[in-house]
Amino acid sequence: MSSEDNKKKNSKKSWVWEWFKTDENGIHICQVEVSDGQICNKNYKTASSTGNLINHLINKHQINDKIIKKDYVVKKKL
Ligand SMILES: [Zn+2]
Repeated sequence: MSSEDNKKKNSKKSWVWEWFKTDENGIHICQVEVSDGQICNKNYKTASSTGNLINHLINKHQINDKIIKKDYVVKKKL
């Protein structure tokens, strides 16, 4: 019931939204840049749990909550 708990819960979740945007239909779309100028665009329905989104980021992009968008550098093709 403390606001501390709420804050914790939100911040744990929020890193995912650095990488996903939600469109007008409530679809979550992955915004990770996969190569020069190319966005992943993998989309998930609104009902998808954050866990699915997290799994996608970790498995496909090796992105976790320790990586912030600013620091993410796309692997440029050689
Ligand atoms: Zn993606």
